[in-house]
Amino acid sequence: MSIVFLTDSFMPMEEAKISPMDRGFLFGDGIYEVIPSYDGVLVGFGPHIDRMKQGLELIGINLDWDRAKWREICEALIEKNGNGNLGIYLHVSRGADSKRFHAYPTDVPATIYAYAFEIPAANVPEKSKAKGYKVATTEDLRWQRCNIKSTSLLGNVMHFQHGHAQGYNETILFNEKNEMTEGSACNAYIVKNGVVITPPLDNQILPGITRLMLLDILAKHTDIKVEERIVTMDEVFAADEVWLTSSSKEIAPVIQMDGKPVGNGEVGDTWLKAQTAYTANKANY
Ligand code: PMP
Repeated sequence: MSIVFLTDSFMPMEEAKISPMDRGFLFGDGIYEVIPSYDGVLVGFGPHIDRMKQGLELIGINLDWDRAKWREICEALIEKNGNGNLGIYLHVSRGADSKRFHAYPTDVPATIYAYAFEIPAANVPEKSKAKGYKVATTEDLRWQRCNIKSTSLLGNVMHFQHGHAQGYNETILFNEKNEMTEGSACNAYIVKNGVVITPPLDNQILPGITRLMLLDILAKHTDIKVEERIVTMDEVFAADEVWLTSSSKEIAPVIQMDGKPVGNGEVGDTWLKAQTAYTANKANY
């Protein structure tokens, strides 16, 4: 049985009910977060909560919960749902109004929902144990505020489905100038001649917490060079390695894109160095 948190208390998932007038349901009007936890240890908790608070501020939802309040809920969910490898999903919608009207209501309390779901075990920094991702590519047709972790995910869902329907694990997206943006549910990177290159943070991509941690760890604990700059489609298809990152994937090596091998079609040496450093240092965030 899964125990979830809704607004102010814990309950079995079957008992958690929200109004059909909730703006999260009607408009996708909300912000969410996913924090990984391995054997009871949350990874990147502080930065995840900070990103959620920034998102709430950007869309004008007032909720004065601090890190300590969120930590209490996350830790209770972990404890009530058996510690293992869990993703903690946090969701704040603008709440249930009495009418369907686009303008932000002023007197409606936010709806807060949180639950825990199983995620894969943390990556082991060994090539033979790595899951090699096979991905599709397509044009990024989402909105122009992809930096907001909005619960309105239809654009991402449709792009993910594009790859999934063809038997692929993910879909890498390119803007109209054929520049890589990100994956449908992850950030994206190439490696060329040992240099890791990833698009800069702007409105086209989500500022991933795994990205934040990875770039910091690479700078502090490895000699791997990183460039944050535009990555063209030609560069992606000529890359030695391609990676994806997200809270539940950590660093995922891509071995095939649109049916063509990435580099030599195998998990790369730079991935191994990066995942080794990530595994050793991720608990510090
Ligand atoms: N981009 C998108 C579109 C995402 O949905 C996600 C999270 N699933 C990410 C990037 C990665 O973010 P994080 O590392 O914080 O999980």
